[in-house]
Parts: sequence; C-alpha cells; structure tokens
Amino acid sequence: MNIVVVGSGIAGVTFAEKYRTLSPDTEITLITQEHDGYYSRPLLSRGFTKTDIEQSIILKSFDKLRESNIDVIAGSEITGIDCKQKTVAIDGPCQEKFLTYDKLILAQGSEAFVPPPFRPFEKLFFKLNSLADLKAMRKFRQPFLNRNQHPHWAVVGGGLIGCEVASDLAAAGDKVTIYHMMDRLMERQLVPEDSAGLLAVLQASGVEVLLNQAVQSFADEGGKLCVKTDVTAEYDAIVVATGFKPRTGLAQQAGLDVGRGIKVNAYLQTSDEDVFALGDAAELSESKLYAYILPIRSQALWLANHLTGQEQTPWAPALFSTKAKVHGFEAKYPYNL
Ligand SMILES: Cc1cc2nc3c(=O)[nH]c(=O)nc-3n(C[C@H](O)[C@H](O)[C@H](O)COP(=O)(O)OP(=O)(O)OC[C@H]3O[C@@H](n4cnc5c(N)ncnc54)[C@H](O)[C@@H]3O)c2cc1C
Repeated sequence: MNIVVVGSGIAGVTFAEKYRTLSPDTEITLITQEHDGYYSRPLLSRGFTKTDIEQSIILKSFDKLRESNIDVIAGSEITGIDCKQKTVAIDGPCQEKFLTYDKLILAQGSEAFVPPPFRPFEKLFFKLNSLADLKAMRKFRQPFLNRNQHPHWAVVGGGLIGCEVASDLAAAGDKVTIYHMMDRLMERQLVPEDSAGLLAVLQASGVEVLLNQAVQSFADEGGKLCVKTDVTAEYDAIVVATGFKPRTGLAQQAGLDVGRGIKVNAYLQTSDEDVFALGDAAELSESKLYAYILPIRSQALWLANHLTGQEQTPWAPALFSTKAKVHGFEAKYPYNL
C-alpha cells in the first residue's frame, strides 16, 4: 500500500502520523508547500505579542516526521492529479516529478478569501493565512519598532480572524482601525449581546471600530496606503480578513466533484473511490465545512482508522466549541459554528 498525502496542516499531519502507528509498513509520502515544519495555524493570530512566535509556532519539524518513516517532500506543490493513472505531478526542488498512489489524501486546507473588487489591489494589503504571511507582516513592522514607533493598521473585516488580529496588534502597541461591513462584530458566530461585549473590549484596548463600512477600494498615495469608503483614510498597512476559501482547484481539474469545498461522503471519500479529502478543503453533506481544529483532528484520526480497517461507521462530528482569541474577551453564550 502506498499513500500520498497533500498538505502539512493538522489534517495531513495527524492523518499521516496516526496511519503510521496503525500500519508500520505502508509507504506514506506527505507533500507540502511549507518549508518550516508543521505549525499551529490558530497561533498565527498571536503573532505580534509573542516575540518568539516564528519558532514557538512550530509543533513538529519535518525531520521529526521523517524519523517516523513519513517521507516528507517540503517546499513543493502538487500541480495535477490523474485519477485514472493514479499519479500526482509535483513542482519543486525534489527529484520526483510524479508519484503514484494507491490512496490519495487531499488535506490542502484553505486560502484567504479576497472579494473580487479587492483583487486588483492585492499588492497593497496583507492577509494572515499562513506562517509566510505572518513573517511578512512581522518583517514590515520591524523597522517601525527599531525606530521606537508603531504602525497604524487598517483591518478590513470584523469577523473572527479580523478581530483576533486587531486585538493582538493593539496588545502589541500598534494603532488599529477595523472596518466591518455589518452593524456588529462577528455577527456569524456571536449573539448581539456578545458582539456588543466584543466591541467594548476592543475599544477599551484602543482599537477604533468602524461598523457599516463598505470598503470600495485601496490606493497607494506616496507610500501611504489608503482605504476608500465614502471617505479616504490613510494607514501604514492594511490587512484584509474577509473569510476563507477551501482549495478546490486541483480536485476540480482532476474531474472530482467540488462545491464550496471538495465534495466527500460520510466516509470522507471524494467522487473517486481512491481519493479522500478532509480538513478545511472538504465539504460534507448539506454543503457543510468543518474548518476548526477539533473536528479536523477527529476526521484525520477517523480516516486513518477507517483506511486500516478499524472503523466502519461513517465519520460524524462530535459537539465542539471554539473561542475568539481576543485579549480579554469571553463570550457569554455559545458560538454559532
Ligand atoms: C489566523 C487563524 C486563526 C485560527 N484560529 C483558530 C482557532 O482558534 N480555533 C480553531 O479551531 N481554528 C482556528 N483556525 C482555523 C484552523 O486553523 C484551520 O481550520 C485548520 O488549520 C485547517 O487545517 P488543514 O490541515 O485542513 O489546512 P491547513 O492548515 O491550511 O494546511 C493545508 C496545507 O496544505 C498545503 N498545500 C495546499 N495546497 C498544496 C499543494 N497543491 N501542494 C502541496 N501542498 C499544498 C499548504 O501549504 C498547507 O500546509 C484559524 C485559522 C487562521 C488562519
């Protein structure tokens, strides 16, 4: 048996490690675009108050995974899947340009969603979706700190990630203005009373919150970055945090069924019987995405058990909860997930 896993987030790594413990002889190859190891994505939004974050965020080095006999091909991208030949095409510094598989596990996660009107301005703003994104933001910020200054950030989007990033930047001493399209923060996850509590906490930490703001465009005017609504305001930097989008392109090119994510049945099996998908990339029945750590970990463990013949009942999510990592904020009511 030869298993190829795409992606080194919690979905891919948890699956590969669990499968290895259940089946010492199976060949497992994990291919990832990442260079720095398996890291905690939730900790990205604590990337400004934790000075050692670029090291402490790493949960496991790729060499450590290799010691468990998982063949990690890092810094490389899967660029194509041929479901008939059961091969994947690889673009990267590694010698292999194609790999064959008996089972293919798609754990490619999600990218930051950028609304179409913002796309022509992508060079003008940051997104916070990967360790590379965090490093870019920290690198931008460092010269300000070296001069004993702090940049002023516009954070576009008052959802979970926008609020977390704004909170951490403010806690690290930066000036922050949030632009949110709706009339309350995190309206998808929180009841109105908790949105009001969150607003109060953010404001108390120095964050300026602008609600009911339809951002129209961005501009670079002589080195100052502008956010344009009905009025134009200048900032040192802009972060767009307007949601996420499962990575479906490869699956779609391969002819697999995709919708919001890569469509899978309750056995996490795609429309090809030897290809499975899990984590942020996967869409279950009723268009449901499970883009949180706890259900993804459960999917990964379940799939390893299932493919080694230890689990026959379909995957079902256990009840889970999450918390916004906003300094000083506790919701009174459960999150809507
Ligand atoms: C800032 C932030 C804060 C968050 N906070 C929380 C939280 O507090 N609690 C919580 O439950 N969830 C949180 N989440 C969501 C959670 O982190 C994700 O649901 C989870 O990490 C997704 O795991 P994954 O393994 O499916 O995908 P990912 O972690 O995205 O991993 C996918 C991997 O696939 C690789 N890849 C993609 N395409 C290819 C390709 N073609 N070839 C090779 N490799 C490829 C990528 O490089 C990446 O390494 C947060 C997310 C973010 C961005």
